[in-house]
Amino acid sequence: MISGTTALVALLGQPVSHSLSPVMQNAALKAMGLDWSFMALPCSADDLASVLKGLEAVGCRGLNVTIPHKQAVSLLCEELSPLAQRLGAVNTLTPLPRGGWHGHNTDVEGFLAPLLQNHPDWSGRRAVVVGCGGSARAVVAGLQDVNPSEITIVGRRAETLEPFCSSLQQGRPTNAVQLQPLLNNDPQLQTRIQQADLVVNTTPIGMSSHQPDQGPALPLGEDIWNNLSAHTVLYDLIYTPRPTPWLQRGETLGCRTYDGLEMLVQQGAAALRRWSGIDEIPVDVMREAALKNLSDS
Ligand code: NAP
Repeated sequence: MISGTTALVALLGQPVSHSLSPVMQNAALKAMGLDWSFMALPCSADDLASVLKGLEAVGCRGLNVTIPHKQAVSLLCEELSPLAQRLGAVNTLTPLPRGGWHGHNTDVEGFLAPLLQNHPDWSGRRAVVVGCGGSARAVVAGLQDVNPSEITIVGRRAETLEPFCSSLQQGRPTNAVQLQPLLNNDPQLQTRIQQADLVVNTTPIGMSSHQPDQGPALPLGEDIWNNLSAHTVLYDLIYTPRPTPWLQRGETLGCRTYDGLEMLVQQGAAALRRWSGIDEIPVDVMREAALKNLSDS
């Protein structure tokens, strides 16, 4: 029930109409008995700075930020967490007592949560990340923190792949794992995939909106997955459809698979923990609300 005392928490992005965050967050707020309400607010790049000021002025308790503002908003924060600074990308804003916003990134925690829950030790393992866009930054930063022996990043364009790897390598300790850029037509790719302990898809290939005329429904094409080893864990950031065609292929080969729903739920729970200062977030309630919304739509 929204009343005169209800405080606002919100998502800023464009578009936001398909976001699962409002149903997840409002289910959690209700279970926690917090007199807050979560709204998805469409916001253009030109309006971002003034919207942030306005939301601060009306006592907004916290914000999530999504495409296309994750990088731009980091320049509008008065303070950034070390992780947000390292990534140059923010998805969670918390109001500062002295005014302005603190920026953090909970995508890294969200990405790692299901992986670490089932496989706590990734040290010495080999990881391949397909794609080098926005979400891949959080994925690679997360992997850098769990010490695999190899992280290969596969991209289709050298002009985005090389800067992606060098920016995430910057400032890392000299003994930290080196990121290995690989173009998607490189002859070494087949071997890297076969030897990988973990492959993460961060491209949109396989999403429900993917059309046959946009190419094959599997990242990197169909054939490269034919000799996948059953010990390789496959993690797709996509969660519509469930399972994705790529995860379906992995399942038929006996691979353990994860889709992106748990990452979405866990990044939202981590954001709510920051906004509310409450450690015990009803993650099961958030997951159920997201699943119900997906099955209803
Ligand atoms: P993005 O910034 O646009 O990055 C997409 C990456 O995929 C880029 O490297 C892009 O390469 C590559 N790519 C796109 N189409 C391709 C194709 N046909 N062939 C080869 N490479 C292709 O997007 P994003 O924000 O990272 O999102 C990527 C996916 O992750 C989306 O499906 C999104 O829904 C999902 N996601 C899930 C979560 C979650 O919580 N589960 C969070 C964030 C994102 P170019 O640079 O060459 O275009």
